Amino acid sequence: MTRTADVDKDRVSALKEQLRRREHEIALLRETALAVGSELDLDKVFALIVDRARELISAETVLLPLLNRDCNEYTYRAGSGANVDEIVGESLPLDFGICGWVWKHKRPWWRGVLSELSEQEKNLWEKDAGTLLMVPLVGRQHFLGGIACIDKSGGGEFSESDLHLLELFAGQVAIAIENAMAMEKVEQARREAEEAQGELQRVNKRLSAVNQELEYLSLYDNLTGLPNRSLFHDHVRKELKQRGEGDGGLALLIADIDRFQDLNDTLGHEAGDELLRIVAQRFASRLGPTDIIGRMSGDEFAVLLTDVDEKSAMASARSLLDALDQTMELAGNEVLVTAGIGVALFPQHGNDISTLFKHADAAMLAAKREKSGAHLFDEQHDAGNAGRFALVRELRAALDNGEFVLYYQPKLELATSTITGVEALARWYRQDGSYVPPDMFITALEQTGLIQRFTWWALETAMLQRNAWLKQRLDLRIAVNVPISVITDPRFISGLARLVERYSARGGITLEITENIFFGDYDRLNAVLTELRSFDIECSIDDFGTGYSSLARLRLLPVAEIKIDRSFVMDMLHSNDDAVIVKSTIDLGQNLGIKVVAEGVENIQTLQQLYRLRCDSVQGYYVAKALPVAELEAFFAQSKWTVQRADKAAATTAGDPI
Ligand code: C2E
Ligand code: CA
Ligand code: CA
Repeated sequence: MTRTADVDKDRVSALKEQLRRREHEIALLRETALAVGSELDLDKVFALIVDRARELISAETVLLPLLNRDCNEYTYRAGSGANVDEIVGESLPLDFGICGWVWKHKRPWWRGVLSELSEQEKNLWEKDAGTLLMVPLVGRQHFLGGIACIDKSGGGEFSESDLHLLELFAGQVAIAIENAMAMEKVEQARREAEEAQGELQRVNKRLSAVNQELEYLSLYDNLTGLPNRSLFHDHVRKELKQRGEGDGGLALLIADIDRFQDLNDTLGHEAGDELLRIVAQRFASRLGPTDIIGRMSGDEFAVLLTDVDEKSAMASARSLLDALDQTMELAGNEVLVTAGIGVALFPQHGNDISTLFKHADAAMLAAKREKSGAHLFDEQHDAGNAGRFALVRELRAALDNGEFVLYYQPKLELATSTITGVEALARWYRQDGSYVPPDMFITALEQTGLIQRFTWWALETAMLQRNAWLKQRLDLRIAVNVPISVITDPRFISGLARLVERYSARGGITLEITENIFFGDYDRLNAVLTELRSFDIECSIDDFGTGYSSLARLRLLPVAEIKIDRSFVMDMLHSNDDAVIVKSTIDLGQNLGIKVVAEGVENIQTLQQLYRLRCDSVQGYYVAKALPVAELEAFFAQSKWTVQRADKAAATTAGDPI
C-alpha cells in the first residue's frame, strides 16, 4: 500500500514537474512571440530569438543562420552562448553543411534523420548528430533560414520533445522575422529615397544658382554691372504703371558720351571699357536711392528720376555732367570726357515709355548738336526735322477737315475661294494733291497723341461702311488697324462698346494689332482682348514674325487670327528661311486654333503654295490692292472670286447708321 502510494506520489510529482515545465515553455513561447512581434529592429529581434530558443530547450549554443537576399549564401546573423562571437557575421555557401541540408529538404535536422542520409553524409555528421538540432524558419512567403542548437546543457542529447518545441517556436518567430525584414527593406528604401532627395536638393540648389547667374547675365550689363536695356525698361514700365494722378513726376535722362568712338579707336578697347566703367561709377555716385540708372548700349546710359519737376530734373542732369568734369587716366593718358544729356518729363513730354524714350533721345541729340550739355525736350526744336511741327498742325487740320480716307483691301479665304473680309487702310492726299504714305502719317499721329482720335474715326468709318455693304447684301468683316497703345487705353473698351452698339457691329469687326517693342503689360492686353471677345470683336496679330510677337505670349492671348508679315511671304518661293517661317507659322496657327492670313501675296504661285500649306486666307496685290469703295465694288462685280453674301437674317440685324 505504502509502496503503491509512494509510487503514485512519485508519479504525481513527476507529472507536476512536467506540467510546470510545460507551463514555463508555453509562457516562454507566448512571451517570445509577443516580444518579437512588437520589435521591428532586426538585430534586436534576432538577439531575442536566440536567447529564448536557448532557454527553451536548454542548449549550450544557439545560432541563427539566415539566407542572404540573393539566396546563394547564409549568414549567421545572431548567436547566444559560448564562443558565438567568432561565428556571428560569418557567411557560408548555401549548399554547405547541415544548414544546406535543412534548406534543401525544408525539414528539421536531428538525430532521427541519420537513417535517411547518404553514406558520405552519415560519415561526415554522425559523430555530432546527437548534439545538433536545427529547424527551418519558413515565413509566409520565403524560406528564411533556420535556428541551430548545439550541445544540450549539462550533456546528453536533444530529445524529440526539444525538436517539437523548437519547431513550434520557429513557426511563431518566422513570421516576425519576415515582418522585421520587410520593415528593414522599407527602411532601406526610405533611406535611399532620402539620400536621393538630398542629392536632388543639392542639384536643385546648384541649378537655381546657375539660373540666378543666367538671369543676372540677361538683366545686367556685365561691363558696368548696371541694369541693361531690358531691365531698365522694366523699371520704367513699372514706375509708369504705378503712377497715379497727383503723384510726382518722372524724368527720363539719356546720356551719350561725346566722341566715344574716337577715344575707343585711339586708346584701345580696354581703355574704352574702363572709360565706360568709370562713367558708370561717377554717374551712379550722383544719384539718389530711388533713382535708377542703366546702360542702354555702347556709350549710352539712361537714368530714371522719380518725384522730380523740370527744375530738379535739369539740376540732376547737370550734376551728372559735373561728375565728368575731372580727368580720368586711361592707358597712360589724362582724358577729359564730356557727354550730352537729353531730358524728357512725364507726363509733360509723353505718358508712355516709347514716347518718353523717343523724346529723351531727341533732346539728347539736340544737346549734342548744340553742345549744350543738358537739354530739356522741346517739341518744336527736337522734332528732328523742322517740318514736323508743321506736320502736327497739318494732321490736326486733316482730321478736322475729313481729309483721311479709308481704302479697303480684300482678304481671300483659300478653301472656299471667297472674299470674306477686307482690311481698312488709311490714305491721305493733302489738299494740294500730294500723297503722304500711311507709315509716315501713322507714326506722326502716334507721336503726337492724335492717334486716339484718328482710330475712333477709322473704327466708326469702317462700321458705317460695313452697314452700307450689308444693305447691298455683302457680308464683309472689316479689319481696322489699332495701335496697342490705343487698345490698352482704359477708355477704349467702353468707347468701343458704345460704337458697336450704335452700329450693330457685333461680329463684323476685327482689330489688327501690332506688338510694340516697348510694350510690356501683357496682363492688361489679355484682359482687354478677352473683353473684346465678349462682344464678338476679333483680334488679329499683325506683322507676325517681325520679331516682337513671341510665341509664348501669343499662346496666352485670346486672338482669332495672325497675319504673317508680307516680308516673309513676298520671298517665300525663293528664300528657304522665309518658307520655313511661313510654314511653321501656319502649323502653329493650326495647333492653336488660330486663323492664319498671309499678307503680300503678289502672284499666283505664292497663292498656290499657301493653299498647299493650308493657309486660311491671303491678302495682296495678286487679289487686289487697297481700293477706294467705288473701285472695290466694281472689282467685286467682275471678280472671279465669290464675295461673301449676307443672308436675309444677317442683313436685317444690321441696323441703319444713325
Ligand atoms: P499693314 O497693316 O501691315 O498693312 C498692309 C500693308 O501692306 C499696306 O500698306 C498694304 O497696302 C500693303 N500691301 C498689301 N498687299 C501688298 C502686296 O501684295 N505687296 C506689297 N508690297 N504690299 C502690300 P499701306 O497701306 O502702305 O500701310 C502701311 C501700314 O500703315 C500698315 O501696315 C499699317 O501698319 C499702317 N496703317 C495703314 N492704315 C492704317 C490705319 O488706319 N490705322 C493704323 N493704326 N495704321 C494704319
Ligand atoms: Ca494691318
Ligand atoms: Ca501687316
